[in-house]
Amino acid sequence: MLSVTEVTVRYGSLTAVSDIDLAVADGEVVALLGPSGCGKSTLLRAIAGLEPPARGVVRWDDTDLAAVPVHRRGFGLVFQDGQLFPHRDVAGNVAFGLRMRHMPTADRRTRVAELLELVGLGGYEHRRVTELSGGEQQRVALARALAPRPRLLLLDEPLSALDRALREQLAMDLAGVLRVADATALVVTHDHDEAFTLADRVAVMRAGAVVQTGPPDEVWRRP
Ligand code: ADP
Ligand code: ADP
Repeated sequence: MLSVTEVTVRYGSLTAVSDIDLAVADGEVVALLGPSGCGKSTLLRAIAGLEPPARGVVRWDDTDLAAVPVHRRGFGLVFQDGQLFPHRDVAGNVAFGLRMRHMPTADRRTRVAELLELVGLGGYEHRRVTELSGGEQQRVALARALAPRPRLLLLDEPLSALDRALREQLAMDLAGVLRVADATALVVTHDHDEAFTLADRVAVMRAGAVVQTGPPDEVWRRP
């Protein structure tokens, strides 16, 4: 499991998040919910290893991750705009992490096909990513992040670049994919509905602090 203990992150003199305690159990999907600027991305980046905490510890099980670089943490990352490799086709994007791990070509093709089915893009292997819709691009980004079977998926506003109607549909699809993949995930969002569609548990943030944690319906009742 992921555990965050008394984590503080500063940008110069600005304390972006302060004294955060948070845990994500295996198989759990937790949403970090709060208004823009409250420190959600900063906390996610600290967990990913992209932002060193000024204080506190990020652990996976009993291992302190302070000295473990981003690509060795075994986490999968999905950001707001997907950040696909524009010069690779869909299969090339999804297979990226598998190629890095030297998975044999035949296994890689099978795994890519499986993942594309999972995210609702069966048969899209040879499409150019630049010709896909925003929603399709986010599905590719999700498939790419899931490919190496990450022990934790970190999603930073994965749907917020999309329009409202599409977001609702994709939030439900994403919830289904996370369930089928039995993923452990931490999802950053400023959108209540999205948090409640996706998460087993919601951690509410305000001004750099986690102010409330609980199942979606409990958090809903205590605004
Ligand atoms: P959220 O994800 O909830 O919108 P952020 O974590 O992005 O919030 O930002 C938290 C605070 O830290 C904000 O005041 C923001 O302006 C500041 N901040 C974020 N990134 C940086 C940075 N790279 N340098 C300086 N300040 C930053
Ligand atoms: P840098 O200053 O080199 O960008 P970072 O800590 O931001 O250092 O990232 C190190 C490298 O790891 C970057 O090339 C980044 O693109 C890459 N990276 C980021 N996330 C992941 C990931 N989930 N798996 C593998 N590599 C990643």
